[in-house]
Amino acid sequence: MGHKSEVLQRYLTEKGVDYHPGRMGWQKVSCFSDDGHPNGDRNPSASVNLVTGHYHCFGCELAGDVYDLVMELESLTYPEAKKRLGDEGSASAPPMEPTWL
Ligand SMILES: [Zn+2]
Repeated sequence: MGHKSEVLQRYLTEKGVDYHPGRMGWQKVSCFSDDGHPNGDRNPSASVNLVTGHYHCFGCELAGDVYDLVMELESLTYPEAKKRLGDEGSASAPPMEPTWL
């Protein structure tokens, strides 16, 4: 469990979902994305895995790892998502943002 799991855990908490994972750490959950489910996701069609940091919704396109999820839900670029997840990277640090933008 690391920082990525904490971010997923926070999404779960926001949805009012307790994490009681079944097989292999997967937990059924209503989709985190409101865009993908304009009328709400009343029959939980998504699964989240705090062990591996993965997410998969069977009702909309939202699936992938925690980076994909953060990028989609918070409209972030990949470097922004990495920063959000506290992963500054090491080998290939992104260039400094220009301060005049
Ligand atoms: Zn969905």
